[in-house]
Amino acid sequence: MPQASISRDLAPAHALRALDALEAAGHEAWIVGGWVRDALRGCPAHDVDICTDAMWQQSEAAFEAAGIEVHETGVKHGTVTAIVCGEPVEVTTYRVDGDYSDARHPDSVTFVRDVREDLARRDFTVNAMAWHPDRGLLDPFGGRQDLAAGVIRAVGDPALRFKEDALRILRAVRFACRLGFAIEPATQAALSAAAQTLDHVAQERIGSELRGIVVTGRASWAVREQRPVMFAALPELAPMEGFDQRSPYHVYDVLEHTLRVMEGVESLSSGRASERLRWAALLHDVGKPACFTVDEHGQGHFFGHPAEGMRIARRLLRRLAIPHELSQPIVALVRYHDRPTQPTEPSMLSLIASVDAMGGLHERDEVIGLMRELLCLRRADALAKAPECRGYAYELNEHERVLDHIGRTRACWRVSDLAVGGRDVIEACGIAPGPAVGEALSRALSAVMAGKVGNNREEILAWLSGSQNQTGR
Ligand code: ATP
Ligand code: MG
Repeated sequence: MPQASISRDLAPAHALRALDALEAAGHEAWIVGGWVRDALRGCPAHDVDICTDAMWQQSEAAFEAAGIEVHETGVKHGTVTAIVCGEPVEVTTYRVDGDYSDARHPDSVTFVRDVREDLARRDFTVNAMAWHPDRGLLDPFGGRQDLAAGVIRAVGDPALRFKEDALRILRAVRFACRLGFAIEPATQAALSAAAQTLDHVAQERIGSELRGIVVTGRASWAVREQRPVMFAALPELAPMEGFDQRSPYHVYDVLEHTLRVMEGVESLSSGRASERLRWAALLHDVGKPACFTVDEHGQGHFFGHPAEGMRIARRLLRRLAIPHELSQPIVALVRYHDRPTQPTEPSMLSLIASVDAMGGLHERDEVIGLMRELLCLRRADALAKAPECRGYAYELNEHERVLDHIGRTRACWRVSDLAVGGRDVIEACGIAPGPAVGEALSRALSAVMAGKVGNNREEILAWLSGSQNQTGR
């Protein structure tokens, strides 16, 4: 239940100081948007947005007069950012948006005098409230009631609002996921009808809303219940729908299997799965439809689907401008979700080395962490197959034990983990400087990973000299 009102103590000191500075200069100012919504829910966020009747130059002057640092961060749209007690506060002049000729951004913004006009241009009732420590809550569209009822409702005519800015379609889904809310029927009808217009929205805006959906852990709800929207945002998912796997290992089509894997990683991680694991669960089988073949017994196969999935995932994440540090481990999880392994050190080390080469992580411990997530993905994958295949999830406990052991003993899977370096190889084995040195080290690494040679200088150099003689080099 939302609070009946917001107590003054909930407001961060830096926001109150920014309000005071504006009002001391004779302007009106309110806290607006997400902070008000979350404060009414009893969980105020850290970010505070303020809106004011002052023009940006006046806001700037008011902060300067109060000795507050201020930056011109978006003056075209009337925004300056004040730094109060080290915290940034965005301050924007009351405005309404002009026409949206491209459903992307307003052609212009017009500054206005009345805060209610500013609230009216906001997307959903729960986001269209303003609050002031003395004047209280300003809620012209029934946001508090919708918050209590758990409803996302467009401000004004929903069809028009989605036509103005199609990104709001995805924002509605994001807020529904995040707050666990339902979407009000007229808003839902309008957004379903407009789903395809997401095509006109810049891909990086879509990417950032999709991240917002994925991090809630409820993206499977979004794909189940808001399918046209999610398919418009991620067209790569569409071929998975209803795709009959024709396999004794599967009882669900590719999309239903995927949704169950997404739900599986949530339950296996008690709802605390990392963002990359959530993306990987969503994308792990995205390569399947393109790799489908049927053998002479009528059984379906998906040979090569992890590599195809990797290519599709990489392309899609790049298009959405997902940062490289996030996309690399996602792509590695997709690529190796299905690689057969044994619960032995050599087999696991070989998988770790492959994951490491693609995952873009620096520290060894980070790679072990990613491997744990890979095992979680595999467990969820097994549990979402035919009943006879689900026992594999328990076999993976053995794999996890081997992984624990590798993490504890610092077993090696990188050339840099070897007890010898290039110079040792040149000096002790008589290998000439050049590519042969790297080749020798990588042969030594394979031998150490396979358990044939211990990771110490004497053994490695002796083995290299021996294998040199054998290969005649
Ligand atoms: P979050 O906690 O996710 O940041 P938020 O409500 O603060 O939630 P923002 O995207 O930061 O969301 O936007 C701040 C406010 O600006 C929103 O609460 C809403 O009032 C308004 N807003 C943002 N984007 C749009 C949009 N595309 N159309 C209309 N109003 C918008
Ligand atoms: Mg915000």
